[in-house]
Amino acid sequence: MRAPVLEQDKSTPECVRWVHDEASGLRAIVAIHSTKRGPAFGGCRMWHYPDESAAQRDALRLAEGMSLKNALADLPFGGGKAVIMAPQEKRERGMLFSAFGRFVESFNGQYITAEDVGVTTDDMRIVREQTRNVSGLPRAGGFGGDPSPMTALGVYASIEQAVRKHLRRPALAGTTVAVQGLGAVGAALCELLHAAGCKLVVADINPGRVEQMRQRLGAQSADAGEILTVAADVLAPCALGAVLDHASIPTLHAAIVAGAANNQLASAEDGERLHARGILYLPDFLVNAGGIISVAREFIGSGEKEAVRSEVLLIGRRVAELMERSEAESISTARLAEQWARSKVNAQREHG
Ligand code: NAD
Repeated sequence: MRAPVLEQDKSTPECVRWVHDEASGLRAIVAIHSTKRGPAFGGCRMWHYPDESAAQRDALRLAEGMSLKNALADLPFGGGKAVIMAPQEKRERGMLFSAFGRFVESFNGQYITAEDVGVTTDDMRIVREQTRNVSGLPRAGGFGGDPSPMTALGVYASIEQAVRKHLRRPALAGTTVAVQGLGAVGAALCELLHAAGCKLVVADINPGRVEQMRQRLGAQSADAGEILTVAADVLAPCALGAVLDHASIPTLHAAIVAGAANNQLASAEDGERLHARGILYLPDFLVNAGGIISVAREFIGSGEKEAVRSEVLLIGRRVAELMERSEAESISTARLAEQWARSKVNAQREHG
């Protein structure tokens, strides 16, 4: 069955569709923001939402972010996202993801999924039994699976560029980085930064994860409520979205903000607030594209590990270009990156 297509403008999604599957308990939404560059590609998030409108808002925001991210990363894909409302009562996970796989299949290749927060590679294996339009699957002896290490690599390359250019340091050694969230990406980022000689200050609402980073990497711990405000050269938000807002920005003590979390700015004005304070902000949809590059290349079947690594490291070059243009044109990095990404989506529209 084809999903209904709505009239599109720059922020209106092409398609939004819910599924309620009684047998499995699946309540999920797929939002397709744009298919102008190709089929919409974006992960599937499972989370506890208070109601369907909260889940829908999240799906729409994330789907638009995927359009910008895929365009800036030069991928032949549009943007979309799936959100599953985590069931209130216990449900059989296999049945839930089987039903989700059938839902993905119903988009006839216009939406391609992968893992995101709350979803694992094992879940994607179950989805694969129902549809080919899924990526992020481990392959014996080949490249693929969990995208988090490549996301962390892209964030790392971005931080490295920012430290060189903004702080005018030749290398990362001795740089203090505050990391909020020590999940799949945050922990992998800490390993890379530690290997480069950075000092780490870390926080997570899960104390076990903090303890692990303390013991493995000698990281200093901070209270989860205070990590945004610790004195550091770089703040790397790697937990939730909307952490940068009118209340938090005046309290920041970092010179650079660059992290993996999607939608870090609560509103567009927050990009201007950071700029006005002289804090270099590197937009999430630019720096955290390593994961989508990884799953997209896996899906197309055109990438082996070293080639994908090189492609992810190009994010660092884009960061350098963004910083140069922002300075030359006196425009905030947030606004400039969004204009840049939207022009790439629109260029594709014009040329087919
Ligand atoms: P994850 O679920 O593995 O880790 C998130 C971590 O954040 C968990 O350890 C959690 O306990 C912690 N956390 C939650 N709330 C917190 C708070 N208030 N303070 C401190 N810690 C808190 O997720 P992940 O895969 O590491 O992704 C992290 C972020 O990066 C998410 O926003 C995700 O959307 C984004 N992202 C991830 C990828 C990827 O490849 N995994 C790609 C692009 C973007």
